[in-house]
Amino acid sequence: MLDDPNTADEFEANCRDAEKFLARFKGETLGHHIGGKPAAGDGETFENLTPIDNSAINTVAAGTEADIDAAAGAAKEAFAEWRDLPGAQRRKMLHGLADAIEARAREIALVESMDTGQPIRFMKAAAVRGAENYRFFADKAPEATGGDAMPAKDHINYSIRQPIGPVGVITPWNTPFMLSTWKIAPALAAGCTVVHKPAEWSPLTATLLAEITAEAGIPGGVVNLVHGLGETAGKALTEHPDIKAIAFVGESATGSAIMAQGAPTLKRVHFELGGKNPVIVFDDSDMDRALEAVAFMIYSLNGERCTSSSRLLVQRSIHDEFVERLAAKVKSIRVGHPLDPTTDIGPLIHPRHYEKVMSYWDIAKGDGADIKAGGGRADVSDDGNWVQPTLFTSASNTMRIAQEEIFGPVLTAIPFDDEADALAIANDVAYGLAGYVWTGDVGRAHRLGRGLDAGMIWINSENNRHLPAPFGGMKASGIGRDGGDYSFEFYMETKNICVAMDSHKVPRIGG
Ligand code: NAD
Repeated sequence: MLDDPNTADEFEANCRDAEKFLARFKGETLGHHIGGKPAAGDGETFENLTPIDNSAINTVAAGTEADIDAAAGAAKEAFAEWRDLPGAQRRKMLHGLADAIEARAREIALVESMDTGQPIRFMKAAAVRGAENYRFFADKAPEATGGDAMPAKDHINYSIRQPIGPVGVITPWNTPFMLSTWKIAPALAAGCTVVHKPAEWSPLTATLLAEITAEAGIPGGVVNLVHGLGETAGKALTEHPDIKAIAFVGESATGSAIMAQGAPTLKRVHFELGGKNPVIVFDDSDMDRALEAVAFMIYSLNGERCTSSSRLLVQRSIHDEFVERLAAKVKSIRVGHPLDPTTDIGPLIHPRHYEKVMSYWDIAKGDGADIKAGGGRADVSDDGNWVQPTLFTSASNTMRIAQEEIFGPVLTAIPFDDEADALAIANDVAYGLAGYVWTGDVGRAHRLGRGLDAGMIWINSENNRHLPAPFGGMKASGIGRDGGDYSFEFYMETKNICVAMDSHKVPRIGG
Protein backbone atom coordinates (compact mmCIF):
# COMPACT_ATOMS: atom_id res chain seq x y z
CA MET A 1 0.00 0.00 0.00
CA LEU A 2 2.83 2.37 0.83
CA ASP A 3 4.86 2.60 -2.37
CA ASP A 4 6.98 5.54 -1.34
CA PRO A 5 9.77 4.37 1.03
CA ASN A 6 9.71 7.70 2.88
CA THR A 7 6.06 7.39 3.79
CA ALA A 8 6.60 3.73 4.67
CA ASP A 9 9.34 4.80 7.07
CA GLU A 10 7.15 7.50 8.52
CA PHE A 11 4.33 5.02 9.08
CA GLU A 12 6.70 2.65 10.84
CA ALA A 13 8.08 5.43 13.03
CA ASN A 14 4.54 6.56 13.89
CA CYS A 15 3.56 3.02 14.92
CA ARG A 16 6.71 2.60 16.98
CA ASP A 17 6.28 5.92 18.78
CA ALA A 18 2.56 5.41 19.29
CA GLU A 19 3.29 2.05 20.92
CA LYS A 20 5.76 3.77 23.22
CA PHE A 21 3.33 6.56 24.20
CA LEU A 22 0.42 4.16 24.70
CA ALA A 23 2.43 1.71 26.82
CA ARG A 24 1.71 3.61 30.03
CA PHE A 25 -2.06 3.32 29.47
CA LYS A 26 -2.20 -0.37 28.54
CA GLY A 27 -3.76 -2.53 31.19
CA GLU A 28 -4.05 0.47 33.50
CA THR A 29 -7.06 2.34 34.83
CA LEU A 30 -7.04 5.97 33.86
CA GLY A 31 -8.00 8.12 36.83
CA HIS A 32 -9.16 11.70 37.40
CA HIS A 33 -7.12 14.80 38.25
CA ILE A 34 -8.60 16.72 41.15
CA GLY A 35 -7.01 19.59 43.04
CA GLY A 36 -3.72 19.18 41.17
CA LYS A 37 -3.36 15.48 42.06
CA PRO A 38 -4.30 12.19 40.41
CA ALA A 39 -7.46 10.68 41.93
CA ALA A 40 -8.38 7.03 41.48
CA GLY A 41 -12.18 7.10 41.69
CA ASP A 42 -14.26 4.51 43.54
CA GLY A 43 -13.49 1.42 41.47
CA GLU A 44 -16.23 1.61 38.80
CA THR A 45 -14.62 1.59 35.35
CA PHE A 46 -15.40 1.44 31.62
CA GLU A 47 -13.33 0.21 28.70
CA ASN A 48 -11.61 2.47 26.20
CA LEU A 49 -11.30 0.93 22.74
CA THR A 50 -9.13 1.80 19.78
CA PRO A 51 -11.28 2.05 16.65
CA ILE A 52 -8.54 0.36 14.61
CA ASP A 53 -9.64 -3.08 15.83
CA ASN A 54 -11.98 -2.28 18.73
CA SER A 55 -9.60 -3.87 21.21
CA ALA A 56 -9.35 -2.30 24.66
CA ILE A 57 -6.43 0.07 25.19
CA ASN A 58 -7.20 0.53 28.86
CA THR A 59 -9.95 1.00 31.41
CA VAL A 60 -11.10 4.36 32.70
CA ALA A 61 -12.48 5.42 36.08
CA ALA A 62 -16.21 6.12 35.74
CA GLY A 63 -16.62 9.35 37.66
CA THR A 64 -19.40 9.51 40.23
CA GLU A 65 -21.35 12.31 41.85
CA ALA A 66 -18.79 12.22 44.68
CA ASP A 67 -15.89 12.68 42.20
CA ILE A 68 -17.67 15.63 40.59
CA ASP A 69 -18.35 17.07 44.02
CA ALA A 70 -14.66 16.79 44.93
CA ALA A 71 -13.62 18.41 41.64
CA ALA A 72 -16.16 21.22 41.97
CA GLY A 73 -14.93 21.76 45.54
CA ALA A 74 -11.33 22.00 44.34
CA ALA A 75 -12.34 24.41 41.56
CA LYS A 76 -14.24 26.53 44.08
CA GLU A 77 -11.32 26.62 46.49
CA ALA A 78 -8.87 27.61 43.76
CA PHE A 79 -11.15 30.25 42.26
CA ALA A 80 -10.43 33.33 44.41
CA GLU A 81 -6.67 33.08 44.00
CA TRP A 82 -6.84 32.46 40.26
CA ARG A 83 -9.41 35.24 39.75
CA ASP A 84 -7.26 37.72 41.66
CA LEU A 85 -4.04 37.04 39.75
CA PRO A 86 -3.18 40.02 37.57
CA GLY A 87 -4.08 39.34 33.93
CA ALA A 88 -0.44 39.74 32.92
CA GLN A 89 0.50 36.89 35.22
CA ARG A 90 -2.23 34.66 33.85
CA ARG A 91 -0.95 35.51 30.38
CA LYS A 92 2.54 34.36 31.31
CA MET A 93 1.27 31.13 32.84
CA LEU A 94 -0.95 30.30 29.87
CA HIS A 95 1.94 30.88 27.45
CA GLY A 96 3.92 28.48 29.64
CA LEU A 97 1.12 25.96 29.23
CA ALA A 98 1.19 26.45 25.44
CA ASP A 99 4.95 25.81 25.45
CA ALA A 100 4.41 22.63 27.44
CA ILE A 101 1.74 21.43 24.97
CA GLU A 102 4.08 22.06 22.04
CA ALA A 103 6.84 20.12 23.76
CA ARG A 104 4.59 17.04 23.78
CA ALA A 105 3.00 17.65 20.37
CA ARG A 106 4.02 14.34 18.82
CA GLU A 107 2.79 12.35 21.79
CA ILE A 108 -0.57 14.18 21.74
CA ALA A 109 -0.96 13.66 17.99
CA LEU A 110 -0.19 9.93 18.03
CA VAL A 111 -2.27 9.17 21.12
CA GLU A 112 -5.20 11.16 19.68
CA SER A 113 -5.00 9.24 16.39
CA MET A 114 -4.97 5.86 18.11
CA ASP A 115 -7.79 6.80 20.50
CA THR A 116 -10.13 8.44 17.97
CA GLY A 117 -9.16 6.94 14.60
CA GLN A 118 -8.54 10.42 13.18
CA PRO A 119 -5.76 10.32 10.56
CA ILE A 120 -2.36 11.53 11.65
CA ARG A 121 -2.21 13.90 8.67
CA PHE A 122 -4.88 15.98 10.45
CA MET A 123 -4.00 15.17 14.07
CA LYS A 124 -0.43 16.38 13.56
CA ALA A 125 -1.84 19.86 14.01
CA ALA A 126 -3.98 19.01 17.06
CA ALA A 127 -1.43 20.02 19.67
CA VAL A 128 -0.24 23.03 17.71
CA ARG A 129 -3.81 24.27 17.36
CA GLY A 130 -4.45 23.60 21.03
CA ALA A 131 -1.34 25.59 21.97
CA GLU A 132 -2.47 28.41 19.66
CA ASN A 133 -5.77 28.58 21.51
CA TYR A 134 -3.89 29.06 24.78
CA ARG A 135 -1.59 31.70 23.29
CA PHE A 136 -4.44 33.64 21.73
CA PHE A 137 -6.47 33.80 24.95
CA ALA A 138 -3.34 34.29 27.08
CA ASP A 139 -2.72 37.55 25.22
CA LYS A 140 -6.29 38.62 25.85
CA ALA A 141 -6.18 37.87 29.61
CA PRO A 142 -4.96 41.34 30.67
CA GLU A 143 -7.84 43.05 28.86
CA ALA A 144 -10.57 40.58 29.86
CA THR A 145 -11.87 42.68 32.76
CA GLY A 146 -12.10 45.85 30.67
CA GLY A 147 -15.50 47.45 30.13
CA ASP A 148 -17.08 50.65 28.88
CA ALA A 149 -17.32 54.15 30.30
CA MET A 150 -20.79 55.72 29.91
CA PRO A 151 -20.70 59.24 31.36
CA ALA A 152 -23.92 61.22 31.89
CA LYS A 153 -24.47 64.72 33.34
CA ASP A 154 -24.63 63.82 37.05
CA HIS A 155 -23.28 60.31 37.07
CA ILE A 156 -20.64 58.24 35.45
CA ASN A 157 -21.52 54.65 34.63
CA TYR A 158 -18.77 52.25 33.91
CA SER A 159 -18.79 48.52 33.41
CA ILE A 160 -16.28 45.89 34.42
CA ARG A 161 -16.19 42.16 33.77
CA GLN A 162 -15.50 39.57 36.41
CA PRO A 163 -15.09 35.82 35.99
CA ILE A 164 -18.33 33.96 36.66
CA GLY A 165 -16.75 31.30 38.91
CA PRO A 166 -15.92 27.62 38.51
CA VAL A 167 -17.26 26.34 35.18
CA GLY A 168 -17.90 22.89 33.72
CA VAL A 169 -16.52 21.97 30.30
CA ILE A 170 -18.06 18.93 28.60
CA THR A 171 -16.47 17.83 25.32
CA PRO A 172 -17.16 15.29 22.52
CA TRP A 173 -14.93 12.67 20.91
CA ASN A 174 -14.39 13.93 17.37
CA THR A 175 -11.32 16.16 17.88
CA PRO A 176 -11.17 16.04 21.67
CA PHE A 177 -7.82 17.68 22.43
CA MET A 178 -8.31 20.73 20.24
CA LEU A 179 -11.93 21.20 21.31
CA SER A 180 -11.16 21.02 25.01
CA THR A 181 -8.46 23.71 24.69
CA TRP A 182 -10.92 25.84 22.72
CA LYS A 183 -13.11 25.89 25.85
CA ILE A 184 -10.62 25.71 28.70
CA ALA A 185 -8.23 28.40 27.38
CA PRO A 186 -10.74 31.30 27.40
CA ALA A 187 -12.16 30.14 30.75
CA LEU A 188 -8.71 30.30 32.34
CA ALA A 189 -7.83 33.59 30.65
CA ALA A 190 -11.06 35.05 32.02
CA GLY A 191 -10.11 33.96 35.56
CA CYS A 192 -12.50 31.00 35.89
CA THR A 193 -11.52 27.61 37.24
CA VAL A 194 -12.61 24.47 35.41
CA VAL A 195 -13.97 20.97 35.84
CA HIS A 196 -13.54 19.09 32.56
CA LYS A 197 -15.61 15.99 31.69
CA PRO A 198 -14.29 14.60 28.40
CA ALA A 199 -16.10 12.13 26.13
CA GLU A 200 -15.98 8.52 27.27
CA TRP A 201 -15.00 7.26 23.80
CA SER A 202 -11.76 9.31 23.64
CA PRO A 203 -10.40 9.94 27.15
CA LEU A 204 -6.63 9.73 26.65
CA THR A 205 -5.55 13.18 25.54
CA ALA A 206 -7.71 14.79 28.25
CA THR A 207 -5.41 13.09 30.74
CA LEU A 208 -2.34 14.33 28.84
CA LEU A 209 -3.75 17.85 28.98
CA ALA A 210 -4.40 17.62 32.73
CA GLU A 211 -0.84 16.39 33.31
CA ILE A 212 0.66 19.08 31.09
CA THR A 213 -1.42 21.73 32.85
CA ALA A 214 -0.02 20.66 36.22
CA GLU A 215 3.56 20.39 34.90
CA ALA A 216 3.29 23.89 33.44
CA GLY A 217 2.71 25.26 36.95
CA ILE A 218 -1.00 26.08 36.74
CA PRO A 219 -2.02 25.93 40.41
CA GLY A 220 -3.79 22.78 41.66
CA GLY A 221 -7.58 23.00 41.48
CA VAL A 222 -7.60 25.52 38.63
CA VAL A 223 -8.20 22.73 36.09
CA ASN A 224 -9.76 19.49 37.28
CA LEU A 225 -10.54 16.44 35.17
CA VAL A 226 -13.23 13.87 35.89
CA HIS A 227 -13.62 11.00 33.43
CA GLY A 228 -16.91 9.24 33.12
CA LEU A 229 -20.20 8.70 31.38
CA GLY A 230 -22.44 11.54 30.29
CA GLU A 231 -25.49 10.29 32.12
CA THR A 232 -23.66 10.12 35.46
CA ALA A 233 -20.51 12.27 35.70
CA GLY A 234 -21.69 14.72 33.00
CA LYS A 235 -25.12 15.02 34.55
CA ALA A 236 -23.71 15.57 38.06
CA LEU A 237 -21.48 18.34 36.72
CA THR A 238 -24.40 20.16 35.10
CA GLU A 239 -26.39 19.90 38.33
CA HIS A 240 -23.68 20.97 40.77
CA PRO A 241 -24.56 24.21 42.58
CA ASP A 242 -20.95 25.44 42.72
CA ILE A 243 -20.55 25.19 38.96
CA LYS A 244 -21.77 28.48 37.54
CA ALA A 245 -21.80 27.75 33.83
CA ILE A 246 -21.53 24.82 31.42
CA ALA A 247 -19.62 25.06 28.15
CA PHE A 248 -20.78 22.08 26.14
CA VAL A 249 -19.85 20.71 22.73
CA GLY A 250 -21.84 17.73 21.51
CA GLU A 251 -25.15 16.58 20.12
CA SER A 252 -28.26 18.75 20.06
CA ALA A 253 -30.28 16.20 22.07
CA THR A 254 -27.61 16.21 24.80
CA GLY A 255 -27.76 20.01 24.82
CA SER A 256 -31.50 19.83 25.56
CA ALA A 257 -30.87 17.36 28.39
CA ILE A 258 -28.19 19.61 29.86
CA MET A 259 -30.47 22.62 29.72
CA ALA A 260 -33.09 20.71 31.73
CA GLN A 261 -30.51 19.34 34.18
CA GLY A 262 -29.04 22.81 34.72
CA ALA A 263 -32.38 24.57 35.15
CA PRO A 264 -32.77 24.10 38.93
CA THR A 265 -29.41 25.79 39.55
CA LEU A 266 -29.99 28.36 36.76
CA LYS A 267 -26.85 27.37 34.88
CA ARG A 268 -25.55 29.66 32.21
CA VAL A 269 -25.03 27.48 29.15
CA HIS A 270 -23.01 27.73 25.99
CA PHE A 271 -23.83 25.07 23.42
CA GLU A 272 -21.93 24.09 20.29
CA LEU A 273 -24.11 21.36 18.82
CA GLY A 274 -24.73 19.42 15.64
CA GLY A 275 -25.00 20.58 12.05
CA LYS A 276 -26.30 19.63 8.61
CA ASN A 277 -24.43 22.33 6.81
CA PRO A 278 -25.16 23.24 3.19
CA VAL A 279 -22.47 23.99 0.65
CA ILE A 280 -24.09 25.80 -2.28
CA VAL A 281 -22.28 25.70 -5.61
CA PHE A 282 -23.51 28.08 -8.34
CA ASP A 283 -22.70 27.70 -12.02
CA ASP A 284 -20.73 30.98 -11.95
CA SER A 285 -18.26 29.71 -9.36
CA ASP A 286 -14.69 28.55 -9.79
CA MET A 287 -15.64 24.89 -10.11
CA ASP A 288 -12.15 23.47 -9.54
CA ARG A 289 -11.72 25.28 -6.24
CA ALA A 290 -15.29 24.51 -5.20
CA LEU A 291 -14.76 20.83 -5.90
CA GLU A 292 -11.67 20.63 -3.70
CA ALA A 293 -13.35 22.49 -0.86
CA VAL A 294 -16.57 20.46 -1.03
CA ALA A 295 -14.62 17.21 -0.85
CA PHE A 296 -12.32 18.43 1.91
CA MET A 297 -15.10 19.74 4.14
CA ILE A 298 -16.95 16.42 4.28
CA TYR A 299 -14.28 13.76 3.84
CA SER A 300 -11.54 15.17 6.10
CA LEU A 301 -11.53 14.34 9.83
CA ASN A 302 -13.52 11.18 9.00
CA GLY A 303 -16.54 13.40 8.35
CA GLU A 304 -16.81 13.57 12.14
CA ARG A 305 -16.85 17.31 12.15
CA CYS A 306 -19.59 19.69 13.27
CA THR A 307 -18.92 22.15 10.44
CA SER A 308 -18.72 19.48 7.72
CA SER A 309 -20.51 20.45 4.51
CA SER A 310 -22.76 17.42 4.57
CA ARG A 311 -25.40 18.72 2.09
CA LEU A 312 -24.15 19.67 -1.36
CA LEU A 313 -26.61 21.94 -3.16
CA VAL A 314 -25.45 22.23 -6.75
CA GLN A 315 -27.03 24.27 -9.52
CA ARG A 316 -28.85 22.05 -12.00
CA SER A 317 -26.94 23.46 -15.00
CA ILE A 318 -23.64 22.07 -13.64
CA HIS A 319 -25.04 19.32 -11.45
CA ASP A 320 -24.17 16.27 -13.55
CA GLU A 321 -20.63 17.38 -14.39
CA PHE A 322 -19.88 18.45 -10.83
CA VAL A 323 -21.23 15.26 -9.32
CA GLU A 324 -19.33 13.09 -11.84
CA ARG A 325 -16.04 14.82 -11.01
CA LEU A 326 -16.78 14.63 -7.30
CA ALA A 327 -17.57 10.92 -7.48
CA ALA A 328 -14.21 10.27 -9.17
CA LYS A 329 -12.51 12.20 -6.41
CA VAL A 330 -14.39 10.36 -3.67
CA LYS A 331 -13.25 7.04 -5.13
CA SER A 332 -9.64 8.22 -4.90
CA ILE A 333 -9.81 8.98 -1.17
CA ARG A 334 -7.73 6.55 0.88
CA VAL A 335 -9.22 4.79 3.87
CA GLY A 336 -6.58 3.23 6.07
CA HIS A 337 -4.64 3.02 9.29
CA PRO A 338 -4.76 6.41 11.02
CA LEU A 339 -0.99 6.44 11.59
CA ASP A 340 -0.26 5.95 7.89
CA PRO A 341 0.66 9.43 6.63
CA THR A 342 -1.13 8.77 3.32
CA THR A 343 -4.47 7.94 4.98
CA ASP A 344 -7.31 10.38 4.36
CA ILE A 345 -9.98 8.57 6.37
CA GLY A 346 -9.36 6.42 9.42
CA PRO A 347 -11.76 4.15 11.31
CA LEU A 348 -14.86 5.74 12.86
CA ILE A 349 -14.68 6.28 16.59
CA HIS A 350 -16.76 3.37 17.95
CA PRO A 351 -18.73 0.34 16.75
CA ARG A 352 -21.97 2.08 17.79
CA HIS A 353 -21.18 5.10 15.65
CA TYR A 354 -20.04 2.83 12.80
CA GLU A 355 -23.41 1.01 12.91
CA LYS A 356 -25.23 4.33 12.84
CA VAL A 357 -23.33 5.58 9.78
CA MET A 358 -23.65 2.21 7.99
CA SER A 359 -27.43 2.25 8.57
CA TYR A 360 -27.77 5.20 6.20
CA TRP A 361 -27.10 3.13 3.05
CA ASP A 362 -30.46 1.40 3.42
CA ILE A 363 -32.18 4.56 4.60
CA ALA A 364 -30.93 6.38 1.47
CA LYS A 365 -32.02 3.61 -0.89
CA GLY A 366 -35.37 3.26 0.87
CA ASP A 367 -36.02 6.98 0.41
CA GLY A 368 -35.14 6.74 -3.31
CA ALA A 369 -31.62 8.21 -3.42
CA ASP A 370 -28.76 6.73 -5.45
CA ILE A 371 -25.34 5.77 -4.10
CA LYS A 372 -22.92 7.31 -6.57
CA ALA A 373 -19.76 6.36 -4.65
CA GLY A 374 -19.03 4.24 -1.59
CA GLY A 375 -21.96 2.99 0.43
CA GLY A 376 -20.33 0.12 2.28
CA ARG A 377 -17.61 -1.07 4.60
CA ALA A 378 -14.09 -0.19 3.47
CA ASP A 379 -11.83 -3.15 2.96
CA VAL A 380 -8.96 -2.36 5.32
CA SER A 381 -9.05 -5.18 7.86
CA ASP A 382 -11.65 -7.47 9.39
CA ASP A 383 -11.79 -5.62 12.69
CA GLY A 384 -12.22 -1.91 13.07
CA ASN A 385 -14.78 0.65 12.01
CA TRP A 386 -13.83 1.25 8.36
CA VAL A 387 -16.37 3.05 6.21
CA GLN A 388 -16.13 4.00 2.54
CA PRO A 389 -16.42 7.68 1.73
CA THR A 390 -19.90 7.93 0.28
CA LEU A 391 -21.79 10.20 -2.09
CA PHE A 392 -25.58 10.09 -2.32
CA THR A 393 -27.24 11.61 -5.40
CA SER A 394 -30.80 11.97 -6.72
CA ALA A 395 -31.68 13.16 -3.24
CA SER A 396 -34.29 15.63 -2.13
CA ASN A 397 -34.10 17.78 0.96
CA THR A 398 -36.94 15.97 2.71
CA MET A 399 -35.03 12.68 2.84
CA ARG A 400 -33.47 11.60 6.12
CA ILE A 401 -30.00 11.71 4.52
CA ALA A 402 -30.59 15.44 3.94
CA GLN A 403 -32.07 16.23 7.35
CA GLU A 404 -30.14 14.13 9.88
CA GLU A 405 -26.58 14.61 11.05
CA ILE A 406 -24.82 11.39 9.98
CA PHE A 407 -21.41 12.57 11.29
CA GLY A 408 -19.40 10.37 8.94
CA PRO A 409 -17.72 10.72 5.51
CA VAL A 410 -21.08 10.86 3.79
CA LEU A 411 -22.33 13.58 1.47
CA THR A 412 -25.84 14.13 0.11
CA ALA A 413 -26.06 15.99 -3.24
CA ILE A 414 -29.24 17.87 -4.12
CA PRO A 415 -29.81 19.90 -7.31
CA PHE A 416 -31.32 23.41 -7.25
CA ASP A 417 -32.60 25.79 -9.94
CA ASP A 418 -31.82 29.33 -8.85
CA GLU A 419 -30.75 31.45 -5.90
CA ALA A 420 -34.18 31.51 -4.25
CA ASP A 421 -34.46 27.74 -4.57
CA ALA A 422 -30.95 27.25 -3.10
CA LEU A 423 -31.72 29.48 -0.12
CA ALA A 424 -35.04 27.77 0.59
CA ILE A 425 -33.45 24.30 0.51
CA ALA A 426 -30.43 25.40 2.55
CA ASN A 427 -32.59 26.83 5.35
CA ASP A 428 -35.10 23.97 5.42
CA VAL A 429 -33.38 22.00 8.16
CA ALA A 430 -33.41 21.98 11.96
CA TYR A 431 -29.74 22.93 12.23
CA GLY A 432 -27.99 26.25 11.62
CA LEU A 433 -24.27 25.96 12.29
CA ALA A 434 -22.42 26.78 9.06
CA GLY A 435 -23.10 27.55 5.42
CA TYR A 436 -20.71 27.59 2.46
CA VAL A 437 -21.36 29.48 -0.78
CA TRP A 438 -19.44 29.23 -4.04
CA THR A 439 -20.26 31.95 -6.56
CA GLY A 440 -18.55 34.54 -8.74
CA ASP A 441 -21.33 37.08 -8.08
CA VAL A 442 -20.41 39.46 -5.24
CA GLY A 443 -23.96 40.67 -4.65
CA ARG A 444 -25.29 37.13 -4.47
CA ALA A 445 -22.53 36.18 -2.02
CA HIS A 446 -23.62 38.96 0.33
CA ARG A 447 -27.32 38.20 -0.14
CA LEU A 448 -26.77 34.60 0.84
CA GLY A 449 -24.49 35.66 3.68
CA ARG A 450 -27.48 37.50 5.10
CA GLY A 451 -30.13 35.03 4.08
CA LEU A 452 -28.68 31.75 5.31
CA ASP A 453 -29.86 30.70 8.76
CA ALA A 454 -26.46 29.75 10.16
CA GLY A 455 -24.03 31.23 12.64
CA MET A 456 -21.05 31.05 10.29
CA ILE A 457 -20.95 31.61 6.54
CA TRP A 458 -17.92 30.98 4.37
CA ILE A 459 -17.93 32.48 0.87
CA ASN A 460 -15.68 30.79 -1.70
CA SER A 461 -13.83 29.08 1.11
CA GLU A 462 -13.73 25.98 3.23
CA ASN A 463 -13.94 26.42 7.00
CA ASN A 464 -11.15 28.85 7.65
CA ARG A 465 -10.84 29.52 11.35
CA HIS A 466 -9.88 32.96 12.63
CA LEU A 467 -9.61 32.97 16.42
CA PRO A 468 -11.02 36.48 17.04
CA ALA A 469 -14.13 35.73 14.94
CA PRO A 470 -17.39 34.49 16.49
CA PHE A 471 -17.87 30.72 16.28
CA GLY A 472 -21.23 29.07 16.97
CA GLY A 473 -24.61 28.13 15.61
CA MET A 474 -28.27 29.08 15.40
CA LYS A 475 -31.41 26.93 15.68
CA ALA A 476 -30.60 23.36 16.84
CA SER A 477 -26.87 24.02 16.36
CA GLY A 478 -26.27 25.98 19.48
CA ILE A 479 -26.51 28.89 21.82
CA GLY A 480 -23.77 31.47 22.23
CA ARG A 481 -20.53 32.26 20.46
CA ASP A 482 -16.90 31.49 21.13
CA GLY A 483 -13.84 33.27 19.84
CA GLY A 484 -12.12 36.52 20.74
CA ASP A 485 -14.06 38.68 23.13
CA TYR A 486 -17.23 36.65 22.56
CA SER A 487 -15.80 33.92 24.78
CA PHE A 488 -15.34 36.35 27.65
CA GLU A 489 -19.01 37.35 27.43
CA PHE A 490 -19.79 33.78 28.43
CA TYR A 491 -17.15 33.14 31.09
CA MET A 492 -17.57 36.54 32.77
CA GLU A 493 -20.25 38.63 34.43
CA THR A 494 -20.61 42.20 33.24
CA LYS A 495 -21.15 44.55 36.16
CA ASN A 496 -22.23 48.16 35.92
CA ILE A 497 -20.95 50.67 38.48
CA CYS A 498 -22.70 54.00 38.68
CA VAL A 499 -20.98 56.83 40.59
CA ALA A 500 -22.64 60.17 41.29
CA MET A 501 -20.76 63.44 40.76
CA ASP A 502 -22.58 64.71 43.89
CA SER A 503 -24.35 67.23 41.72
CA HIS A 504 -27.78 65.65 41.34
CA LYS A 505 -30.81 66.03 43.56
CA VAL A 506 -31.30 62.90 45.68
CA PRO A 507 -35.03 62.07 45.72
CA ARG A 508 -36.65 62.08 49.14
CA ILE A 509 -39.35 59.96 50.69
CA GLY A 510 -40.90 60.20 54.15
CA GLY A 511 -40.12 62.71 56.99
P1 NAD B 1 -22.63 13.71 22.82
O1 NAD B 1 -23.63 14.79 22.98
O2 NAD B 1 -23.09 12.31 22.79
O3 NAD B 1 -21.54 13.77 23.98
C1 NAD B 1 -20.78 14.94 24.23
C2 NAD B 1 -20.40 14.97 25.68
O4 NAD B 1 -21.57 15.10 26.48
C3 NAD B 1 -19.69 13.71 26.17
O5 NAD B 1 -18.65 14.08 27.04
C4 NAD B 1 -20.78 12.98 26.92
O6 NAD B 1 -20.30 12.14 27.92
C5 NAD B 1 -21.55 14.14 27.52
N1 NAD B 1 -22.94 13.85 27.90
C6 NAD B 1 -23.79 12.94 27.36
N2 NAD B 1 -24.98 12.98 28.01
C7 NAD B 1 -24.87 13.93 28.97
C8 NAD B 1 -25.76 14.43 29.94
N3 NAD B 1 -27.00 13.98 30.07
N4 NAD B 1 -25.33 15.41 30.77
C9 NAD B 1 -24.07 15.91 30.64
N5 NAD B 1 -23.18 15.47 29.73
C10 NAD B 1 -23.58 14.48 28.90
O7 NAD B 1 -21.81 14.09 21.51
P2 NAD B 1 -20.67 13.23 20.80
O8 NAD B 1 -21.36 12.09 20.12
O9 NAD B 1 -19.59 12.98 21.77
O10 NAD B 1 -20.11 14.25 19.72
C11 NAD B 1 -20.63 14.42 18.45
C12 NAD B 1 -21.54 15.63 18.39
O11 NAD B 1 -20.82 16.80 18.75
C13 NAD B 1 -22.07 15.89 16.99
O12 NAD B 1 -23.44 16.19 17.04
C14 NAD B 1 -21.28 17.12 16.55
O13 NAD B 1 -21.90 17.91 15.57
C15 NAD B 1 -21.12 17.84 17.83
N6 NAD B 1 -20.01 18.82 17.74
C16 NAD B 1 -20.32 20.13 17.64
C17 NAD B 1 -19.32 21.09 17.50
C18 NAD B 1 -19.64 22.56 17.34
O14 NAD B 1 -18.73 23.37 17.47
N7 NAD B 1 -20.88 22.93 17.08
C19 NAD B 1 -17.98 20.67 17.49
C20 NAD B 1 -17.69 19.31 17.58
C21 NAD B 1 -18.74 18.40 17.72
